[in-house]
Amino acid sequence: MQSGGRQAEAPGRGPRVLVVGGGIAGLGAAQRLCRHPAFSHLRVLEATARAGGRIRSEHSFGGVVEVGAHWIHGPSQGNPVFQLAAKYGLLGEKALSEENQLIETGGHVGLPSVSYASSGVSVSLELVAEMASLFYSLIDQTREFLQAAETTPPSVGEYLKEKIRQHMAGWTEDEETKKLKLAILKNLFNVECCVSGTHSMDLVALAPFGEYTVLPGLDCTFPEGYQGLTDCIMASLPKDVMVFDKPVKTIHWNGSFREASAPGETFPVLVECEDGDCFPAHHVVVTVPLGFFKKHLDTFFEPPLPTEKVEAIRKIGFGTNNKIFLEFEEPFWEPDCQHIQVVWEDMSPLEDTAPELQDAWFKKLIGFWVLPPFQASHVLCGFIAGLESEFMETLSDEDVLRSLTQVLRRVTGNPQLPAPRSMLRSCWHSAPYTRGSYSYVAVGSSGDDMDRLAQPLPSDGKGAQKIIQHLEREGIKHVVFTNCVKDENVKQVIPTVTELVGSSYRYHRGEHVEYCIMVIGVPNVGKSSLINSLRRQHLRKGKATRVGGEPGITRAVMSRIQVCERPLMFLLDTPGVLAPRIPSVETGLKLALCGTVLDHLVGEETLADFLLYTLNRHQLSGYVQHYGLGEACDDIASVLKRVAVKLRKTQKVKVLTGTGNVNVIQPDYPAAARDFLRAFRSGLLGPVMLDRDLLQGRSAEES
Ligand SMILES: Cc1cc2nc3c(=O)[nH]c(=O)nc-3n(C[C@H](O)[C@H](O)[C@H](O)COP(=O)(O)OP(=O)(O)OC[C@H]3O[C@@H](n4cnc5c(N)ncnc54)[C@H](O)[C@@H]3O)c2cc1C
Repeated sequence: MQSGGRQAEAPGRGPRVLVVGGGIAGLGAAQRLCRHPAFSHLRVLEATARAGGRIRSEHSFGGVVEVGAHWIHGPSQGNPVFQLAAKYGLLGEKALSEENQLIETGGHVGLPSVSYASSGVSVSLELVAEMASLFYSLIDQTREFLQAAETTPPSVGEYLKEKIRQHMAGWTEDEETKKLKLAILKNLFNVECCVSGTHSMDLVALAPFGEYTVLPGLDCTFPEGYQGLTDCIMASLPKDVMVFDKPVKTIHWNGSFREASAPGETFPVLVECEDGDCFPAHHVVVTVPLGFFKKHLDTFFEPPLPTEKVEAIRKIGFGTNNKIFLEFEEPFWEPDCQHIQVVWEDMSPLEDTAPELQDAWFKKLIGFWVLPPFQASHVLCGFIAGLESEFMETLSDEDVLRSLTQVLRRVTGNPQLPAPRSMLRSCWHSAPYTRGSYSYVAVGSSGDDMDRLAQPLPSDGKGAQKIIQHLEREGIKHVVFTNCVKDENVKQVIPTVTELVGSSYRYHRGEHVEYCIMVIGVPNVGKSSLINSLRRQHLRKGKATRVGGEPGITRAVMSRIQVCERPLMFLLDTPGVLAPRIPSVETGLKLALCGTVLDHLVGEETLADFLLYTLNRHQLSGYVQHYGLGEACDDIASVLKRVAVKLRKTQKVKVLTGTGNVNVIQPDYPAAARDFLRAFRSGLLGPVMLDRDLLQGRSAEES
């Protein structure tokens, strides 16, 4: 590996930050960082020759067409893309109008202006409207499963099909109309595949489907192209920040790297590019698409990412949605036509057998959107998702144009319909630095996986160093950080212990090479979990000692538990011990939050209050997202009330009044407090370091 090259000599002082990927996420991150004086030492490494990534507007057909992102969905004040676009003056009058911003679409695609069937007849728009109303009411019903841990069926597709079968029992029309209704529904399934970026709605998880928030506002476009937005962000960055044609090959992290031009300085990350250039950095923001991650996960990070991130990348879905633009000399559609639906009468959502791709890929195409007329041409934009879309990418332009001309002649019933003059299409699946179009929450994943991906690494980072220094000042050495639930780093424990015992004179007395070691610590710190994890790692054996989330599970020193064969090592599990005197109320509350004493002895609501106070002090807003609270709040009563209502934890209370007894329903505050504590302890609120103040050399009371 050779060092940095010309671009590595970034200007400015302070920590070096690299952003990998120059799409809107990378550009947005760079813009934010540049505003801060501490981050003047910044570079964006972009694999291709242009910025914008999946936002890509091309000048074609005498106008501008969107090869990637098309609409601002929900263009209203709560939408940051809308705000930016408005700030840069990129939107038309209608999109900016208050009226447009107030329209509630429910996130559904509008009705077509015309619907053509494969037999060459127009489909009644009343029938289309009836089916769309059924379909979208079922889509809305999926929100009922939002809080469900598990659902049967597990996917949106299976749920929709189950409900459609039930509805069909009430259909009284002739067989032909029933078949047509199913064909229209199949088109709507395909539309939903385009919206979700998936091959099939059977792949999309039911419970988290409703996690998406639909903002008000009728979807709008950029008159001069979506790319105006990324161009404006890029123009706001200092010169030299962008480095193009610089594909990153491997990110070496959690290490200690040096650079010849900065002797004495070490960097925790080294970004290695495909051309051999290397960029040392203090921080790296990675914004490459999930499709790229999925393809290059084995080589993109060194050391590999922690299991939970790898699992999240594996589980979240990433599918393909492509566009095919057809240019006509003269429009064959009416002047007010905006959207042409294509319905294949031989297709049904209830039919699982898919025809061969080469014979029928085009049946996945949902229809065409009519683009506003350009100077001398008229353009339709077709959408197609899934494996059929990926297959389309493997065909030649001529093949695609020929197939779609046949489709249009067939559905319009006009064999003389002039062929399109030219064609342009996207190929997002084969784009090497994208590998698909966008992500969806696949069966087996949830929105939490997206949050996991967003968590910074290393999770201990500088914190680990500070903890070690702090403990050393207290005379504690040889610290090994472990995660006994995931068996992380546990393998380091026995070699460290053996080395320590072996190098200590006191233990060099007998010939007998057998170790018997006592595991001691405060209650509920994880002593039994450590022993069980060591057995799993070294003996491939299961639990020998009972564990629990509460203190007091281990009540006596038990018999010796073998944890390793070579060297032969036994451990003694012990009940937890606390110092007889706890130095301060704050320390006591922290210990209680970690579960070293039974919650009810301190009071669950008192503990919840201290937890809320700590989270807010450290600006950790994981609880706001976890409970969907909207914003952080300092008042524990108000937070617990909203948690209780959200979790439907309410209780009936009898109130004695002058006129008689009344039953009042009120939030179950203790139950909400228990859930809050449980969520914190199981990591659902994100990583929290209770001793952060201590490591920064101040106590909570001081600040
Ligand atoms: C067909 C299509 C239609 C869409 N329609 C809409 C829509 O109507 N509305 C909407 O809101 N969204 C839409 N989207 C989604 C939207 O485009 C994306 O969510 C958004 O652009 C993603 O931005 P990003 O910065 O996260 O990723 P990207 O835009 O993909 O940017 C990532 C960048 O990283 C670069 N990169 C990748 N690998 C490397 C590497 N190894 N080294 C260096 N650089 C690398 C890539 O070249 C790219 O420039 C659509 C997407 C597609 C494909």
